[in-house]
Amino acid sequence: MLRMTRRGFAASLAAPAWAAAAEEVIDLHQHTNYAGRSDNELAAHQRAMGVSLSILLPTDPVTGLAVKAGGNDTVAALSARLPREFVWFCNEHPDTPGAIQILEKLLSGGAIGLGEQKLEIACDSPWIHSLAALAAERRVPLLMHFQHGTYNTGYERFHKMLAKYPKTQFIGHAQTFWGHVDAALKPEDLYPKGAVKPGGLTDRLLADYENFHGDLSAGSGLNAFTRDEEHGRAFLLRHHRKLLFGTDCDDRTAFTERCTGSRQLALIRRLAADPQARRNILSANARRLMKLPS
Ligand SMILES: [Zn+2]
Ligand SMILES: [Zn+2]
Repeated sequence: MLRMTRRGFAASLAAPAWAAAAEEVIDLHQHTNYAGRSDNELAAHQRAMGVSLSILLPTDPVTGLAVKAGGNDTVAALSARLPREFVWFCNEHPDTPGAIQILEKLLSGGAIGLGEQKLEIACDSPWIHSLAALAAERRVPLLMHFQHGTYNTGYERFHKMLAKYPKTQFIGHAQTFWGHVDAALKPEDLYPKGAVKPGGLTDRLLADYENFHGDLSAGSGLNAFTRDEEHGRAFLLRHHRKLLFGTDCDDRTAFTERCTGSRQLALIRRLAADPQARRNILSANARRLMKLPS
């Protein structure tokens, strides 16, 4: 019984050769206490993938991002304990009295970005205007979860926010951001399959707005590339200065079918054959955008 258990454990941890490669990997998108995962399990998951630095995105204290994950205090605490491996963003809910002042204080206390912003409001609602203005003033990025009909709705109008706040570095993430690589997307289809029709809204926004960036994390990011690898290969080359690797997976063990982070990492390594493009996507863009010291 013991031998079987140990064999299963060892097999699940068998990392491919590239995991030990010297190439630096920064993970833009992780959460503390994600689905009950401990800090030590999170750190082990990241190390197994060869991630040297992870950006922790807290939940806002009211909605909890609609997933089970930790808030500002938990991400700041893990970063304080393992400062070489974790840095953090901050988050607040607009109903909290003095929400912007709270965020200002957290940014002064070490947070390096805003988000993950995931509320059931429009992407151009007053709260997003406040966050965009704060992000420009403090020169930190704002990471937003776009999901049709639910979170940050009205993506088709988001170009107006990008134009209005040229000094705000926006990072797009989730189903609707990634669905819109496809010009033929039906917006209610959150995980579209099959060949991508080039020229989708996200493709155009990334090309047209210097201040818009893409977060490759989660099942939605992975799906955008597995559904049409040829389109994905060209997309990575076209936007390699604008895309950032991220995981957003809540599993305890990397390199399993469930671990979308390690699957996306392997896919990017295969599709982004140009070394400079790969370096930008895996680490250099994150260093530049978050002003991380090398
Ligand atoms: Zn999200
Ligand atoms: Zn994972």
